[in-house]
Amino acid sequence: AKKNLNTNFEYYEPEMEEQTTWRLDMIRQLGLDFSERKLQLWYQPQVDLVTERVVGMEALLRWPTSNGGFISPDVFIPLAEYSGLIIDIGAWVLEESCRQLGVLSALGFTELRMAVNISMPQFRDPEFINIVKSVITEQGIKPARIELEITESIVMDEPQIVVEALHELKEFGVKVAIDDFGTGFSSMSYLQQLPLDRLKVDRSFVNEITPGKSAFIAETIVTLGNKLGLSTIAEGVEKREQASYMLKLGCDEAQGYLFAKPMPFEQLVVFLENQQDK
Ligand code: C2E
Ligand code: CA
Ligand code: CA
Ligand code: CA
Repeated sequence: AKKNLNTNFEYYEPEMEEQTTWRLDMIRQLGLDFSERKLQLWYQPQVDLVTERVVGMEALLRWPTSNGGFISPDVFIPLAEYSGLIIDIGAWVLEESCRQLGVLSALGFTELRMAVNISMPQFRDPEFINIVKSVITEQGIKPARIELEITESIVMDEPQIVVEALHELKEFGVKVAIDDFGTGFSSMSYLQQLPLDRLKVDRSFVNEITPGKSAFIAETIVTLGNKLGLSTIAEGVEKREQASYMLKLGCDEAQGYLFAKPMPFEQLVVFLENQQDK
């Protein structure tokens, strides 16, 4: 059965017995399309909640289908992780996003930050730290302009590997954010052991701004971040009220459809140039 996840994405939900072949087919196709350079990186602006000016963007993978649609990352990222393809794809994401940040610098956007999602298999790859360092160095970018987004489950999965790697990367100068904060299985103790810069308040907590459980969790996360000296960013901000509420809570930044959807690089440049004129 073909289903629409939302307006942009499509995917097939197979019957149980077809699952394995479906999966293998998808993985084979993903590997093929990646090697043929068919994967794309789109960028979603992140804004300062006070000034509402763009301070950075998150790089998001897009896998186009032959009929003009896209397969959702929520479907293919798990397959890329399971198959190990994410190691090469993730290296390309780092390379491409740093290259584009270099292009933005040349256009005069010298302070913007680039957030890049990192998966667990990448941390397990002994080459990972070298890849991060060499890609950033080659592009001549200040390491502090690159922010690695990791989830709590990554940290809990293999704390030893992650803690060590993050300390080394931190020494090099890159920033680290905890993605989807509050949704993972977490013991808060890692917050003390990790060299973190930012908490990303998960969309599910931002959604509900009326007094209620989610709003209370959002407030608690922002307070926690502030007390720990970490920046906070709200994701999935779709409505004006959500932005004002997060601002009132003391949240620093926001990302969401209210400000901009993820877009191809050329469109991002136009978006940034239009903003500059304001
Ligand atoms: P994420 O890291 O939590 O990324 C944010 C997701 O929320 C993106 O979905 C983005 O398009 C969506 N989003 C942004 N603003 C709004 C909003 O206002 N409302 C709603 N409803 N959604 C919003 P996307 O692009 O489908 O990516 C899904 C997930 O796939 C990402 O979640 C991330 O976990 C993963 N992913 C994407 N690109 C990469 C990548 O390069 N590497 C890795 N390892 N994972 C990636
Ligand atoms: Ca993310
Ligand atoms: Ca997120
Ligand atoms: Ca998410």
